[in-house]
Amino acid sequence: MSNFDIITLLNFTPPRFLCEKCQAILFKAPYDLKEEAAKCSVCGVRYTPTENYTFHQVGNYLSKKGLSVKIENPIEHGKKLAGIAYRLSKAESSYPPMKALFEAIDSAQHFIHFTTYGLSYSIYGALKLKAQSISIKGIASNIQPDFAKEIREHNKEAEKLEIQIFEQGLPSKDWESIPHQKLIVIDGLLAFKGAANMTESGWRKSANGRDLIETVTNVQKIAKLHNNLFSPIWAQLSKTDNEISMYEKIPLASNPIKPPSKVEVTPTIVEIQSSENLNNGYKNWNAFLQKYPNAYEPWSEADDKLLKEKYMIGMKVNELALLFKRNPGKIRLRLKEKKLIKKK
Ligand SMILES: [Zn+2]
Repeated sequence: MSNFDIITLLNFTPPRFLCEKCQAILFKAPYDLKEEAAKCSVCGVRYTPTENYTFHQVGNYLSKKGLSVKIENPIEHGKKLAGIAYRLSKAESSYPPMKALFEAIDSAQHFIHFTTYGLSYSIYGALKLKAQSISIKGIASNIQPDFAKEIREHNKEAEKLEIQIFEQGLPSKDWESIPHQKLIVIDGLLAFKGAANMTESGWRKSANGRDLIETVTNVQKIAKLHNNLFSPIWAQLSKTDNEISMYEKIPLASNPIKPPSKVEVTPTIVEIQSSENLNNGYKNWNAFLQKYPNAYEPWSEADDKLLKEKYMIGMKVNELALLFKRNPGKIRLRLKEKKLIKKK
């Protein structure tokens, strides 16, 4: 290593963002200058501009949603992960593969993504513990029905752990759709790839050289593997539309989502009434219509559905006004008509 060129350090570009839909690892904000659009090059989801963000600000939007990869001191962190990969490759008996896996999980700073065929309770437990602080997403197939039930029913114990489960014993026609790829990615800086599943037997077999775990430490290669093996399946299973409107203040998944209580609704209305008085002060009608072009449009069924949905996840009346381009008064009226808030 005596000929190591420190300039290499300047070229080190850690992953910057994750796509909201497919979780693809991105090295720059998904903004396409030629197309004049914000679009994920992996899943194709479009980020449509709103009052809050223009196309150019898609990076800011992703940061706000917690999707910019935050790594403290990436060089030190990279060194630590590289050490795990190095020791694992040496196949020392004092450093069993399971230890490498636990160390890697423990070291993660921002995210872990994985696809596996089988999952053991102890590795699941390690992931659950780590998910108290960082986001972990995985696709796990060949899961026994009892275990699948356990994972689904107790997901509140580790809310940042999201596992898409393919149960054992699915009807045969579904087998084709079951992912068989095996990959574990830590912060986009270290990946384990190969035959071993996330089970003790898989990782212990590999210690005996019977099962092969390959470590990948080249960040470009990791992103490519991840975006080819994990992201397409994650996008397919995702409930996110193919268009994402970049609104601010929509509660993040990490915040508990609950319908607003009466106590919370009342001050909102008071606040809106006072801000609506300002609307009366619009210098002219055009300014009002420019801000709320839909104010006098009829409500479609889809509008009503979206209104209910956004209101139930805690969006405030003035935010709904911007979303629907209808003035707060009209929003409040519709919420009353739909019995979402009490008449006063
Ligand atoms: Zn994507």
